Amino acid sequence: MKNRVWIIILSFSVLICAVCWLYISNLSPLSQIVGIYQNGNLVEKIDLNSVTERREITLSGEYGKNTVLVSNGHIMMKSAECPDKLCVKHGELKNGGTPIVCLPNRVVVKFEDSPDGADAKTGAVR
Ligand SMILES: [Zn+2]
Repeated sequence: MKNRVWIIILSFSVLICAVCWLYISNLSPLSQIVGIYQNGNLVEKIDLNSVTERREITLSGEYGKNTVLVSNGHIMMKSAECPDKLCVKHGELKNGGTPIVCLPNRVVVKFEDSPDGADAKTGAVR
């Protein structure tokens, strides 16, 4: 009888571990969600893992246009008409790296993995 109790406890803890592992492995793709902001407002939210085709997003700012290039797992500022072109020189947005910022046109491209975001907790992308 005592043995059976231990088997139940053991199988429960194995089950909990499995659920935890699934939960953690489901959470990790969240770090691939990128937000494009202009003037502090969210323009578009993209899950880089679910991008199937290369596409360009064009934003118009005070100093001209910014063209953001999106492909599977990658995002970068392809071209810009701003005076300093720092956003283009930044290159590809890397996880854990600095956001792509275009100060003249007030465009920011960054990963949406900040812990304060409500979306990160619920897992909602759109
Ligand atoms: Zn720029």
